[in-house]
Parts: sequence; C-alpha cells; structure tokens
Amino acid sequence: MTTPAPEDFFAVGTNVRAVPREESLCQPAAGTIIHIKELPDHMEYFVRFNPPKDQRLSDWYRYPEMEFVSPVSQNFKTPKIHEVRNIEYIEMGNYKLRTWYFSPYPPPFNQVEKLFICQRCLKYARKEEIYQKHVSECKFTVPGIKIYEDHMVSVYEVDGRTEKLFCQFLCLFSKLFLDGKTLYYNTEHFVFYVMTIKQSYLDQDLTDMYSDIKQAQKTPSLPSRRLHTPVQQKGAKSDEEQLVGYFSKEKLSLNVLSCILTFPMYLRLGIGNLLMDFAYILARFENRVGGPEEPLSDLGEQSFKSYWKKRLYKYLIDKGQEKFGAFIYTETQNESENESQIEPQKTEDTLSMSNASVQSWTSQRPRYNRKQGSDFEVQIGDISYETGIIAKHVREACELVKAKIRKENIVLTKSYYYECCKQMQKINNTRAQKGNINRHDIDVKYLVWEPYPAMFQQMTDGGAKEEDGE
Ligand SMILES: [Zn+2]
Repeated sequence: MTTPAPEDFFAVGTNVRAVPREESLCQPAAGTIIHIKELPDHMEYFVRFNPPKDQRLSDWYRYPEMEFVSPVSQNFKTPKIHEVRNIEYIEMGNYKLRTWYFSPYPPPFNQVEKLFICQRCLKYARKEEIYQKHVSECKFTVPGIKIYEDHMVSVYEVDGRTEKLFCQFLCLFSKLFLDGKTLYYNTEHFVFYVMTIKQSYLDQDLTDMYSDIKQAQKTPSLPSRRLHTPVQQKGAKSDEEQLVGYFSKEKLSLNVLSCILTFPMYLRLGIGNLLMDFAYILARFENRVGGPEEPLSDLGEQSFKSYWKKRLYKYLIDKGQEKFGAFIYTETQNESENESQIEPQKTEDTLSMSNASVQSWTSQRPRYNRKQGSDFEVQIGDISYETGIIAKHVREACELVKAKIRKENIVLTKSYYYECCKQMQKINNTRAQKGNINRHDIDVKYLVWEPYPAMFQQMTDGGAKEEDGE
C-alpha cells in the first residue's frame, strides 16, 4: 500500500495560501486551486486569489510554494473555462510578455504556451518561423482615418464595422490583458480610437525606464515577472508609428469610452493618460458628459482617478487664476511648445490640459460661479459640463484633492487655490522627470474630427441633465 504523497491533498477546490507574484508587498494571500496540470516531472496548480485581489494575479504554483488552508468546500463551483489563463506568454515585436487573462483566440491558437503576435497588424501565429516571415513582410498600417497627429502621437478612428478583422484582432489581443471584457467578434457597434507613437520616442523612454527597472531589481523584494523582457531587436525605423493603445466606444452609448488598453509593454510611460484625455476631448466635442463603462478594473480605476484628479486641479487653477490672479510658479515646458511657437496670449491655454475645446465650449453657455461672502464657489455641475467628466466622478475627484464642498459647490479660497497650484506643480515636476510621453499633452489644434452623427448629443438633453438644481 502506498501512502498518498502530500500533494495529493491538493485537489481542485483546495483552499491555499501563496505569494502573488506581482504584488509589491509579497505577503501570502488566500486563494483556491482551480486547475491542475501534470507536467513530466511535477504538477502545477493554478491558484485564483480571493477578492479583492485581482484575477490578473492568478498564477501557476508548484506544490512547495503553497500552504494548505482547508479542503474543498461544499459550495466550490468548478471554474469556467475563461477563468483559467490559456496562453501564458506572447511575443510581439521586441517583447515577450506574460499574459494576465484568458482570451478566446480560436482553436488551435487558444491552447498554446506562447503565441506570436505581429505588432503592426496583430495577426497571430503559433510558430516562430511563420511569425518571423510574416513580420519581415508585413507592411500593414493602421486602417481608418487619421484624426489626430502631432510630432509624436497619432490617433486613428477605426470603424468596427468596416475594419472588422483588425478590430477583432485588437479585441482578442486586449482580452489577454483586460478582465471582464465580453466583446471579441461583434465589433460592428463600436468605433476604435487607436493611438500610435513614433518609434524614436518610445525607444528613448523605454531605455530610461529599463535603467530604472534594473536598479529597482537590485531590491530583492521587488517582483519582476510582469515586467516586459525585450527579446532581440528587430529594428523598426525611428519614424515608424507603433501601436501603443486604444479605446473603443459604443456608437449608441453615452459612455465616453467602453474599453481602454495601453499595450502592456508600454505601461508606465503615460500613454493611458493620453488616451483618457483624448476620450474626454472627443466627448466634449460631442456635447457629452460621461464616464468610462463601469465597473472599472482595479488598474482602470487607479488611472481614471489620477486623471480626474489632475483635471480637477487644472480646472480649479484656471478658475482661481481668473479670480485671484496668477500664482507664480514655473510650469514645466513641454516639447510641443518648442516645436510650435505659442503666442503670448495663449500661454494660459498651455497650462490647462487639452484646453482649446474648453475655451470654445465654455463660451456657449453662461457660468454660474457665485460669490458667497468672501469665498468663491465653483459649481460641480459646471466643472462636469466643461470637462466632460460626469458629476459623480468630479465628486470622487473632490475627495482626492481635498476640496471643501458646500452643497453642490467647491469652495475656492485663495489659500486653497495656492494649494492646488502647489500640488499641480508637484505633479508636473514628477512628469518632467519621467519621459517624453509623460510630458506630452494632446493639443486640440491637431485634431481633425467630426463626431459620428449618432454620437452627437443635443445641448438640450445629455449635457443639461447633469446639472439640474438650477
Ligand atoms: Zn502583420
């Protein structure tokens, strides 16, 4: 009679503790084994961590890496196929990336250890030779209409109906890094706004970031598995536009975007912020006040909150400036200013993120800023209307910037205005230390665009609803 090996007690459904590989604190967390695979010399267990830990952290563990907590509980449900990551790695351009989630690539591409994906057209292959041959010949450029172009960034509007295949490839690829996304094959109802950045800017920022990462990795507690690993350089021309991210938008919905993804090899470069800013700029052109499709992922929530916060600071500073005059501080110059000389009267514009549209926008309706006593108040409804950010999110941002709220207004005192200026200066200083892309702003003068007719909201409905109580 053979005694069972200790690992035999680890069945699907067993509750265990393990150290998430991507967490900065490296504390063991509780989770459940939801899948087991038998390899020639050992077993591997797929552990899904209990909420609030994100599904992204689910990973394969070996027996010695886990700690037994309790046997399979009665209410354990056999996991569905999409709960287990099916493709472990992808190779794309110069990067090998660990994926985060299941993606419904069609068979036989859906059960491979590594999938090769062309960074130009997003076509996929299982075999390296096929991929290499494709890449060497692929002349694909982003389809659709180029609606924005400055010296660094371009954005294309791609209709999911007319460019179905590319949009499907884009969705399948994003699903590897986005949880809870259900659109893969029915792309007709969506428009995709695809962002590209010139290779030379990416190269420069990535080189800087790698040197930072190398330093960080000297700290042993810092996990490195999620970081991208560059594979051999396949020289792209310095002015070639690289796909870096996109957001999609439902043609008949009020959301400013439904899905947003920065390609994971370009995380932390500031691309998410550019995409969000762009989405809100388009929303303002459409007279929309909206938000992203909810619920947001943990990463999505983080990025949006940080965007709303910055946008609110900008707004309050502009208003404070009108009321109390300029607060003297040195604004970090961004390179778009070097390239295109900005006339003196427009200097104020460059202070606010993507401001030109706000200007034309605000002139369309009266403002309701009231004076009460000696305090100056700014209505949340006005902020929402002028930034395109829905009132609920403005309120969330109010907490982040520690604004004093009186009824539906933010109280803007001189000292609070100065505080906003100082905080914004800190944010800008941090941006200045980061790379080119982080310092870059979308400039509305380079946008050539008309909203889809179905997307345009009349001044009388969408916008006005947000600020009743008049
Ligand atoms: Zn290709």
